[in-house]
Amino acid sequence: MRKQIAAANWKMNLTYQQAEKLIDDLLALPHQLKENQQVIFAVPFPYLTMVTHKLAGKQNVFVAAQNCYNKKSGAYTGETSVEMLQSIGVHHVVIGHSERREYFHESNEMLAEKVDICLANNITPIFCCGEPLTFREANEQDLFVAKQLLESLYHLSAEDIQKVVIAYEPIWAIGTGKTATNQQAQDIQAFIRHQIAGHYSEAIANNISILYGGSVKAANAKDIFSQADVDGGLVGGASLIADEFNTIINSLK
Ligand code: PEP
Repeated sequence: MRKQIAAANWKMNLTYQQAEKLIDDLLALPHQLKENQQVIFAVPFPYLTMVTHKLAGKQNVFVAAQNCYNKKSGAYTGETSVEMLQSIGVHHVVIGHSERREYFHESNEMLAEKVDICLANNITPIFCCGEPLTFREANEQDLFVAKQLLESLYHLSAEDIQKVVIAYEPIWAIGTGKTATNQQAQDIQAFIRHQIAGHYSEAIANNISILYGGSVKAANAKDIFSQADVDGGLVGGASLIADEFNTIINSLK
């Protein structure tokens, strides 16, 4: 059965002390994860070890990096390898967030390499895809997302594709307060699953978690997560507020 996931993306926010307090506050709040539910915290690199320690022993709770490099090791000053992440107990990495695609010019081809290096090192990629507003306005969101999936994921084997978590994040809804409607999220996420079924099989497609991201908050999480093909969310702004994110966790199906 595919997992229902609440993933926090802290982006480049919080000091070390604020990050410690946020995790402590969140852990003090009541939540009970079911076996099919997971919580993932994608935190800035300097906080990975601290958050890993704080979450030690918690069932179904994981720490993720927000990025990694597409090379194994070597003269790449300032970059972080998946081997480094693995050696500090990190098992998930966000790959291809739209902010990285836009500001750091990460291409579909480069992201395919990042996915590969993660999987080769037993790290789960949380692969982000999603269209800019112009494509949504032209009703070409399906085409745009299909190309992202084709160029970054469909080279994977049937076994490996099932190790990927997909996060559909329409760029026009990220950090804007503008959320896709439940129907818009359901329609495109059903399309993504249908595409995967076409390339692999229905059983494989049904095994893959597809998250929605874009202004998810406590007030709308339950509605969005209730959609058949929405398996939780990747959450930016609202994940920085303990009780907001806790309500989001408690909204998982
Ligand atoms: C994100 O960072 O992936 C995101 C969806 O941000 P927000 O929830 O703030 O829109």
